[in-house]
Amino acid sequence: MTDISDFKNPDKDSQPIPADSIEALLDMQTELLAEAACSDDHSELLDSLCLLAEKLVPESAASVMTLNPADEKLYIRAAPSLPREAAIAINGIEVGEGSCGNAVLHDQEMYVSNTSEDKRWENIREFAEFFNISACWSIPIHNAQNQAIGSFSLSSFENRIPDNFQRKLLNICASMAGIIFEREQHIKELKHLADHDSLTDLMNRRKFSEDAELLLRQVKRSEGKMALIFIDIDNFKWINDDYGHEAGDEVLKVVAKSLQEHCRDNELVCRWGGDEFILAIVCKEDCQTDVRAVVKRNLRIFGKPIETGANEVIAKMSCGVSVYPSDADNFDSLVHCADQAMLNAKSTGRNKMSYYQNIKQAS
Ligand code: GH3
Ligand code: MG
Repeated sequence: MTDISDFKNPDKDSQPIPADSIEALLDMQTELLAEAACSDDHSELLDSLCLLAEKLVPESAASVMTLNPADEKLYIRAAPSLPREAAIAINGIEVGEGSCGNAVLHDQEMYVSNTSEDKRWENIREFAEFFNISACWSIPIHNAQNQAIGSFSLSSFENRIPDNFQRKLLNICASMAGIIFEREQHIKELKHLADHDSLTDLMNRRKFSEDAELLLRQVKRSEGKMALIFIDIDNFKWINDDYGHEAGDEVLKVVAKSLQEHCRDNELVCRWGGDEFILAIVCKEDCQTDVRAVVKRNLRIFGKPIETGANEVIAKMSCGVSVYPSDADNFDSLVHCADQAMLNAKSTGRNKMSYYQNIKQAS
């Protein structure tokens, strides 16, 4: 790892930034803000940021890299003018390597004017030589907590140090990239909130309905089978009454976590509402065999002690199963059939499973 005392940035020049350059910076910001106001394609916004910066620094190529905390490496998010091979080669550099890696590691601007001599580039010098990158200036990008989460860089084919205008530009671009990342994160969080139940974090009814309808369409196209398993906890009101609403909430959370953890590809699970959950599964051949396997694997939390603060609670459930195509051919009807089957399981003693097909035959 490079020691920060091993290198130093070139001194700032003492010239003030000319008025027309300041105007160019303001124009660039205005252009990007106008684009951001009507687009939430954040990759496109980052590309635009790079291209706008390149316009102000001729013979340069801009890039935005982000830190993946899991492996402490930096990955390219935008580099519209870098040759594809160069982008591939630089993707995944270690924190502490090159200008970008050092900018993130030391949370400091890194102005490397000669990549073939600078210590910061000693591990990736071959890359610089191969792609003829002579200078690379990098600025850390910060998140709202002021942590370095990536870098904004300008590389060029000639040895040069940034003047005051170029330093200002780099800092502005890094700030704007930080704002774009924050916005991207907020939109992601909002979307998650819109699609998930706030107590259990399982998919909510609306999102599940959307996804299950899509799954049903795929199943129809492949002439397959699909089952819905409608689960309702038995006597859940007693849990609330005996141990308190918070304990009831804890039971719902633990149940939801277990249902989610045991879900496999091609299986969907949601909190339908209250103490109700629905699983959608694609059947391979015989739906009853598949449902039995899923109940055994996915519903193992029921009937076992769940810790809720000072108490242990055992939650049992009743469930009803409906199958496409034998019971119904659309999602709403399948839910209705599974609900009827679940109610049948309740009315015939609870803690059991009932198939819509069987209650239909009995009536
Ligand atoms: P049954 O065996 O017939 O299913 O009866 P039950 O007591 O489980 O009651 P039911 O399923 O009809 O109603 C679910 C109850 O769950 C209603 C409400 O008091 C409680 N409940 C609904 N949402 C929440 C929640 O978010 N947290 C908690 N703690 N309780 C909830
Ligand atoms: Mg219930």
